[in-house]
Amino acid sequence: MKSSIGIHQFMPDKVWKWKVLEQKVAHVLSLHDYQEIRLSVLQDYGVIHQGITALMQKEDVVQVTEGIINLSQPNNDLSLLTLRPEGTISVLHHTANIIQDKEIHRFYYLGPMFRKELGKTPSEFHQLGVELLGSDSVISENEVISLGIKICQSLGLKDVYLHLNSFGCQLCRPVFIEDMKKYLKDHESEICEGCFTRLYTNPFSDPSCKNEGCIQAISRGPQVMDYLCPKCRTNFARVKKIQANLAHQYKVNPRLNKNFAYYNETVFDFVVKHNGEDLVIGGGGRYDNLSQMITGKNIPAVGFYLNIDLIFETMERRELFIPLDRSFSVYIASQSDELEMMMMQVAQELHIHDIKTVLSTDKHSIEEDIALANKTGCDLLIVIRDDNVREGKLLMRNLTKEHQDYVGLHEITSEVLLARKALHKE
Ligand SMILES: [Zn+2]
Ligand SMILES: [Zn+2]
Repeated sequence: MKSSIGIHQFMPDKVWKWKVLEQKVAHVLSLHDYQEIRLSVLQDYGVIHQGITALMQKEDVVQVTEGIINLSQPNNDLSLLTLRPEGTISVLHHTANIIQDKEIHRFYYLGPMFRKELGKTPSEFHQLGVELLGSDSVISENEVISLGIKICQSLGLKDVYLHLNSFGCQLCRPVFIEDMKKYLKDHESEICEGCFTRLYTNPFSDPSCKNEGCIQAISRGPQVMDYLCPKCRTNFARVKKIQANLAHQYKVNPRLNKNFAYYNETVFDFVVKHNGEDLVIGGGGRYDNLSQMITGKNIPAVGFYLNIDLIFETMERRELFIPLDRSFSVYIASQSDELEMMMMQVAQELHIHDIKTVLSTDKHSIEEDIALANKTGCDLLIVIRDDNVREGKLLMRNLTKEHQDYVGLHEITSEVLLARKALHKE
C-alpha cells in the first residue's frame, strides 16, 4: 500500500506477490552469474553527495543537495548520515577496493531507495540495480540489455521492448554538446526557462516539459546520433544487430534522454505499453566516465535499473501473480487447559515432517473448530479432548473429504502423513 507521503508498507496480501517477484528476478540473475550485494540503508552523506554530484552535473549541486535525505550525526565522531538514494556509487566504491586487473564483476541489489525531489516530501521506492564492471566490450552491453529483457519476460511482461540510443564517446560528444548549446542560445526565445537551464546544463537530459513550443523547438535541434564517430557508430550497429538476432523488440529513439549526464555510448530504456502509451519501467547504459570520476580507477561499467514499484503495479494490473499451491496444514484444537501441552507436542512432532500447523488459541465447540479450521484453509483438524485422551485416541477430521475418525495417540503422525499423501500435497 502506498501512503500519501511515499512510504511503503506491505501487508500479507501483497508480500507473497513481492516474494514471487523477488524469487523470479533472483533466479534469472543467478543463471547469468550475477552476485547479490546487500547495501546498507544508512550511508555516509559525504560519499553519497560527492558521488551524486559526479552523477549529475556540478552545476546542479542545489538539486543534488535537495535530493538526498540527510539525517543528523549520531555523535561528533561520525559524519552526517543519509538514507541511500541509489546503489551505483556504493557498488563502484566496493568494486574499486577489490578489483584486480582484467577482472570482471557482476553485481545486483534490490531494495528500497529514498529520495526527496525538489519541493516534494521524501519518498521511498524500490529498485533493482544491475552492474557489469570491468569490460568495455559491446558484448557486455548486449549481455546487460538482454538480461533486463529476460527479467521482464520472466515476470510475464512479454511485450517489453527496448528504446536504444547512443550518447557517443569523449571524442564525438563534445561537438554535439557545443552545437546543442549554440542552438539553445539561438532559440532561447522559443524555449521556456526551465527547459533552457536543464538542457544547457545537460544536453542529454529530458526536460519533460509539456509546452508545445519547447517540444517543437527541441525536436528541431541537433541530435547526438548525427554526431557519432565511426567507432561509436559501429558499436551501436552491433548492439542493434545482436538484439535483433535475439528477437528482442527495439526501436532507435534519438530522443531517448537521461537526467543523469554520466552515460557514454549505448543508452537504453525498457518499455511496456499501458493504456496505449509507453511506460518506461527501467533503463540504463554504459557509464565508464562516471566510474572513473567516482573511483579514480579505470573500471569500464555498464548497468541498468528496473523500477520495481512500477513493475509490481503492472503485474498486479495484468493479474500476473499466480498464488502458489497452499501447503498441507493441520489445525489443532484442545478442549481443556490441561491438554495445551499435548497440542504443542503434536504440533512439534508434525513440524519435524515439515507440516504446517495452526493452533486454536481458545476453546470452542467442535462445530466452531471445524468452521475455524476451514477458514484458515487447513486440510486436517485434530481435536484433543479429555475423554478421548483417557481412551488413548484423538479425533481427526479430514476437512477436504468431510470425514472423521478416531486415531490412536501413537498413530497421529503416521495418519497425518497418510492423509497428506492421499491429498497429493507431499
Ligand atoms: Zn564516439
Ligand atoms: Zn519547456
